[in-house]
Amino acid sequence: MDNTPLCLSCNRPLVGRIGKKFCDAQCRNSYHNQHKRPDEKYMQEVNSRLRQNRRILRDLCPEGKATVRRDILEALHFDFNQFTSIYPTQKGVYYLCYDYGYMPIVQNSTQTGHPTQKVLIIQKQDFMNQPFDPWKYLK
Ligand SMILES: [Zn+2]
Repeated sequence: MDNTPLCLSCNRPLVGRIGKKFCDAQCRNSYHNQHKRPDEKYMQEVNSRLRQNRRILRDLCPEGKATVRRDILEALHFDFNQFTSIYPTQKGVYYLCYDYGYMPIVQNSTQTGHPTQKVLIIQKQDFMNQPFDPWKYLK
């Protein structure tokens, strides 16, 4: 029987150093990508939603500040469950996705005059980097 070790990824015979498991970096990467653990997959999904959120906020906020209706964010598949940090203020809470964030607000619609759910989108400012103390909000 032939005892030549085979690449764990492509099953071709391995040549070279003893104890090698893969032909090259490409085979090693593709093997590890196919055998990702479920928790890594979950983290990857969250990261991709965060990046999409950030892209949406950035596109809607070309000048550092913008007010946008909630349904516009929803139509773009903004995921309100995902954010990287929060910045509470007297007027409300900013939910940040990396360097962009939004504060939920209610404003009367210019068309109907009815109260409408909107967000105030901002670019993150240096003063928002203060240490955040979650215990401060215990009631
Ligand atoms: Zn291989």
